[in-house]
Amino acid sequence: MPDSRLKDDCFATDRECLTHAEALALLKAQVAPVVDSETVPLIAAGGRVLAEEIVAPRDVPLADNTAVDGYAFSHADYIASEGRLPVAMRIAAGHPAGTALAQGTAAQIFTGAVMPPGADTVAMQEDCRIDDGEPPIVNVPPGLKQGANRRRAGEDVAAGSALLVPGLRLRPQDVGAIASTGKAEVTVYRRLRAALVSTGDEIVRPGNPIAPGQVFDANHYLLSELLAAANVAVSDLGVLADDPILIRERLAEAAASHDILITSGGVSHGGEDHLADAVAALGSRHLWQLAIKPGRPVSFGQIGDCVAVGLPGNPVAAFVCFLNYAMPVLSAMGGAGFQTPIPYRIPAAFDFAKKPGRREFLRGILERDADGHMVVKKFARDGSALISSLREADGLILLAEETTSVAAGETVEFIPFSAYGIAERTL
Ligand code: AMP
Ligand code: MG
Repeated sequence: MPDSRLKDDCFATDRECLTHAEALALLKAQVAPVVDSETVPLIAAGGRVLAEEIVAPRDVPLADNTAVDGYAFSHADYIASEGRLPVAMRIAAGHPAGTALAQGTAAQIFTGAVMPPGADTVAMQEDCRIDDGEPPIVNVPPGLKQGANRRRAGEDVAAGSALLVPGLRLRPQDVGAIASTGKAEVTVYRRLRAALVSTGDEIVRPGNPIAPGQVFDANHYLLSELLAAANVAVSDLGVLADDPILIRERLAEAAASHDILITSGGVSHGGEDHLADAVAALGSRHLWQLAIKPGRPVSFGQIGDCVAVGLPGNPVAAFVCFLNYAMPVLSAMGGAGFQTPIPYRIPAAFDFAKKPGRREFLRGILERDADGHMVVKKFARDGSALISSLREADGLILLAEETTSVAAGETVEFIPFSAYGIAERTL
């Protein structure tokens, strides 16, 4: 374990209200990666963050080979024979020829088969005509360049080259690339361990009876799924009611065995804010007022080496704050660097008036305009308790602090939920 992943009281700021960019800059400067790593079989490596440099141990492909089914020959012979060559060999994939191609002849060859010594060019089967005989003669059309349809050894990856660097979150194509070098295991940073807590006397877990004034615990499920999308292991600390002693005990225990503690609810200035008091008593906690909508109050704190993130209780605000702030923090802690997605710029299909001075995140729905081009409209209603707005949306529309209006046809910034690892909407 590293000595400490966090600078002392690292989330402290003397600012009462932070802009989105200030909050990101503060988080980026303060969170360091977990450095422990483990070796896993390649089949289990997808979505993990690479902790080693992968240097190609050998060329990929290993040998010159053909990209097509057809006939291989030396380009010089092709020119000299005016494209008529006796077929003297047959080479299938996985069965390299034992001998070189005799001068002035061609080899019938199949995709992936190793080029015989003496051949440098391949004609596609579909372009050739065969005259039957003993041996048959292949007629190759004119105009083939030397090296046509030949794949060179090492053209995908050269032996000794750095294929992948530490910090990369492995995507399917990366795992495939590692497999292509013959490596069967890979060293990755260990998965982060998050403890998830819902708070509030009114919160009830699904599956239980409910009475007026109570609310089912949507956030636990919402946040569990988001953490799973970020490849973080989740411990469920349940719903914590307002018992200061119990809360303090449970949080202290969780902080000792987790990298991050994520709570939802109880971050406004309420008298029943025992959870916040507990974090403050066990370590430190800073309530940030962010100049954003939805999700104004968010808290960041620490209990020892455990980061404590306090998300707002309203599900939409919790979701938006998780994507905006918790996701990059998790990415940095997980070894992949402080990642924030690059917004797309898409024409708006809505009109909107906005207060200046705060950043707004509207729920955006992608559509085709009359020409079939992508435009984004806004979900009709704004309430930050409306989970339906998240369900119907494809991502977040970002409206900058200084923006006061959007007119249909203007370009707006848009971040698809898929940028956060959430699968795309199918209906
Ligand atoms: P709070 O931040 O605790 O003041 O909560 C703000 C709103 O979010 C209240 O209407 C809560 O009932 C609601 N809320 C808090 N926690 C959850 C939860 N886990 N699931 C669904 N709604 C919640
Ligand atoms: Mg509450």
